[in-house]
Amino acid sequence: MTARILSGKPIADAIKAEVAAEVSYIREVHGFSPCLAVVRVGDDPASAVYVGSKVRTSEELGLISEHHHFESDVSHEEIVAIVEELNSRNDVDGILVQLPLPKHIDERDILERIDPEKDVDGFHPVNAGRLMQGYDALVPCTPAGVIEVLKRSEIEIAGKNAVVVGRSNIVGKPMAMLLLHQNATVTICHSRTRNLPEITSKADIIVAAIGRPGFIRAEHIGEGSTVIDVGINNVSDPAAARELFGEDEIGKRLATIEKRGFTLVGDVNPKEAIEKAANFTPVPGGIGLLTVAMLMKNTIAAAKIRRKLD
Ligand code: NAP
Repeated sequence: MTARILSGKPIADAIKAEVAAEVSYIREVHGFSPCLAVVRVGDDPASAVYVGSKVRTSEELGLISEHHHFESDVSHEEIVAIVEELNSRNDVDGILVQLPLPKHIDERDILERIDPEKDVDGFHPVNAGRLMQGYDALVPCTPAGVIEVLKRSEIEIAGKNAVVVGRSNIVGKPMAMLLLHQNATVTICHSRTRNLPEITSKADIIVAAIGRPGFIRAEHIGEGSTVIDVGINNVSDPAAARELFGEDEIGKRLATIEKRGFTLVGDVNPKEAIEKAANFTPVPGGIGLLTVAMLMKNTIAAAKIRRKLD
């Protein structure tokens, strides 16, 4: 079997087009553009890239975007102050604090201070609790993006066995809840799970959110399953890359390592997944592209709920 590749781009583009249409409608009918405020601390290059992409996409879709950037020695109190100011401003619909924060800032305290109605990352315990109980909530963007990919690719979820590998608050746990709400039978695996291949190989849908390059291999994957790769890892060793990519891809990957020093790979071994799965999301070009699109969608949802728009 050769898997169908579920490319994230057409799906992300469709979601962004829907958001742009909603922004136009809100501007025309209600006379304002929703606003997303992003707070970034320090000069972590990956955070700068992620925030740049969020700000750029907001502007492309007609949203108002604000970028509040602080030096890495900013105090906890100063970050509390900006969050409280953004909470109090009626023109701000979504607030996102880019993680990770420097060690001297209490990340959990900051996230819990964001008004749950403006919590477009969906990390506030109020939103996590609402999601758990099956009520409307702002849902973390990456797992919400996985559901969009499954639905828009017409992959049935109801009644299927879904295994989520990873139990983080930002991916694994909300992923499991979303699959459960779609009526899958859900198993959550983690680093203490015994006999992982025995469990994952029986799944109709595997979602890998582990943070280990190429960890999910042929032995973990059932014939004809759907494998969703959430992982984003850097691989700089050409020998490790050769383990992951087939003839058609390896040349390109080695050239990327040569040029940039690394290539992006997921938590699944793509060469082996493509041979066994029916559907597979690539890295890059898969779920990663959905995360920003879902952030835009959450910002519109937050604006509509808080301002009681139809
Ligand atoms: P995380 O907080 O480090 O959690 C990793 C999870 O994997 C943990 O629950 C851990 O189990 C589990 N795990 C680690 N080793 C394992 C093993 N040998 N067997 C089974 N489970 C194991 O990571 P995360 O934030 O959820 O992110 C996961 C991956 O997704 C990363 O590669 C990250 O870069 C990527 N990611 C991508 C996006 C996107 O936009 N596409 C967004 C967020 C994250 P324990 O709980 O037992 O330690």
